[in-house]
Amino acid sequence: MSEPDLATPFRERAGQALDDRFLQEALTIATTKFITLRREAFDAFPQGEALRDQARAIKEATLQRLDHWLEMLIDNVERRGGHVHYATGADEARRIVLDIARRTGARMAVKSKSMATEEIHLNDALEAAGVTPVETDLGEYIIQLAHERPSHIIAPAIHKTKGQVAELFRRELNRDAAPDPEVLTQIARAELRQKFLQADLGITGANFGVAETGTVVLVTNEGNGRMVTSLPRVHVAVMGVEKVIPSMTDLAVFLAILARSATGQKLSVYTSLVNGPRRGGELEGPEEFHLVLLDNGRIRQIAGPLREALSCLRCGACLNVCPVYRQIGGHAYGYTYPGPIGILLTAMLNGPGSVKDLAHASSLCGACVDACPVRIDIPRMLIELRRELDEQRIAPWPERVVFGAFAWLLQRPALYRLSARLGRLLQRPLARNGRIRRLPLFFGSWTRTRDLPPIAARTFHERWAELEREARR
Ligand code: SF4
Repeated sequence: MSEPDLATPFRERAGQALDDRFLQEALTIATTKFITLRREAFDAFPQGEALRDQARAIKEATLQRLDHWLEMLIDNVERRGGHVHYATGADEARRIVLDIARRTGARMAVKSKSMATEEIHLNDALEAAGVTPVETDLGEYIIQLAHERPSHIIAPAIHKTKGQVAELFRRELNRDAAPDPEVLTQIARAELRQKFLQADLGITGANFGVAETGTVVLVTNEGNGRMVTSLPRVHVAVMGVEKVIPSMTDLAVFLAILARSATGQKLSVYTSLVNGPRRGGELEGPEEFHLVLLDNGRIRQIAGPLREALSCLRCGACLNVCPVYRQIGGHAYGYTYPGPIGILLTAMLNGPGSVKDLAHASSLCGACVDACPVRIDIPRMLIELRRELDEQRIAPWPERVVFGAFAWLLQRPALYRLSARLGRLLQRPLARNGRIRRLPLFFGSWTRTRDLPPIAARTFHERWAELEREARR
């Protein structure tokens, strides 16, 4: 499936995803595996539930004094010889990175997986400025070759089968390979090795920024993160401001639940603690270290309706369990961040108008809250978003009219009872064997993929009244 563009309505993008049998196969295999691994990891970790509460409490407490912890982080990064930049928006963040690239004469940048750099569309900006970006995480490398965007927060190429990756390597790298993950990984590894040595710039995100030590923490499963942060002359880390945490003790709490939630591992294979540039006497590490703190709408949400979303660890667990994501994958969402948390992050970054359709792409089943390591109540915020869309009149007018009329009716019991009686009469030609298979006119979209239960022969009030009558006899 090629990536849908935002000019295509969400409903169509979702429809294309549902019709794509390769995507369906890839999604089912990967998300089922992630769900099983996560469940097994927490079943074998009785302290997990208490640590989830503790992690959430740390996030909340940190948000309450975010300015204080950010100032401490900045002081400590600078004390260790690093440079800190603050970007209020994506434009500014791109400009900061490009300035660093120009000043240091960079021609090639190796990158480790980073949703923050995806968010600011850094690769396009680097290319336009004559700096070649090379993704070095295997999944990111695959989608860069395919000229696509990530379709999952931690598994960017989750939408591709191994057969599709083998075909991509044959086309783009001129390498014939069996659709075997090990063989494909070896090819990517050989292609990337030279790039690490040639690159002038290493660009990463940051899973955490530890205020008390000025440490940037990277959690990865491939050795690429270490090479990106140690081989090039200059290392730039782009970090959302909400990723700051107070201390190393807090870090231990997050590390205990992050990998378990993401991939079912006790710890990810690599946890890298970056403490500024290379110091005298050290054999490796960059000459310069830059930390770009990215706001891009986050600070505004500390007092906003999406505040809880600022606690997100980007583990991807809510995507794996979401019945909508599991069917349509990440590209159908159309923005950088997919899945249930992605809808909220998209609203945070681009305003509620950007999710007028996506806000409804959730069954509100609550599976995401159960899976989330910091128990973010995504359904509650989605309902808030829907309300806001309605109040701001962003939702499509037929939807506003129908729900407005329904709300009006619900406040008038006599009329409601009358309309129920009327409905029972009108539905007669449509109801068969206890279900309505097709509604007329534009209501037909409702029954295109599901049946509608008919209005009951007697309402609850009528049955209740009857029960009371019987009890009095
Ligand atoms: S909302 Fe929770 S489950 Fe979803 S990515 Fe963020 S931390 Fe993980």
